[in-house]
Amino acid sequence: MKYRIQSKDGHKIVDLNRRKAIRERCLNCSAWVNKEVANCSFQYCVLYPFRSGQGKQIPKDRNSAIKKYCLWCMNDQRSEIKKCTCPDCPLFPYRNGGIDRSQNTPVLSKKGDIGLNFEDKTKTQYQSMA
Ligand code: SF4
Ligand code: SF4
Repeated sequence: MKYRIQSKDGHKIVDLNRRKAIRERCLNCSAWVNKEVANCSFQYCVLYPFRSGQGKQIPKDRNSAIKKYCLWCMNDQRSEIKKCTCPDCPLFPYRNGGIDRSQNTPVLSKKGDIGLNFEDKTKTQYQSMA
């Protein structure tokens, strides 16, 4: 699913799934430094076993880890998870167990990338100012 998430430079559109969502969440948590994710010292974080985004993962456990992480994020208030106001968090569509497609549907350009469209426009603006 094409989805708009937070990135080092703002936002980006990625082909999201649960495996990638956890990886992106961990990168965000570690200031987008791959090495920091690999060397994460919070072994009790529920996302820890899934942080590399690689290797064999048990889908049921991964799903459960996302829900537990969101519960932790919402200070153990289960009812708040559904009301989360961060649709650009990579875990957002998976926070309730299923896939929430109600938010953050990217508006795709002809090239299929809203970010590319924006960059092109910015470049044109700078070129015309030079
Ligand atoms: S496992 Fe938890 S603490 Fe470690 S990088 Fe991922 S989200 Fe952060
Ligand atoms: S989806 Fe919402 S509740 Fe879950 S980790 Fe992200 S910000 Fe927190």
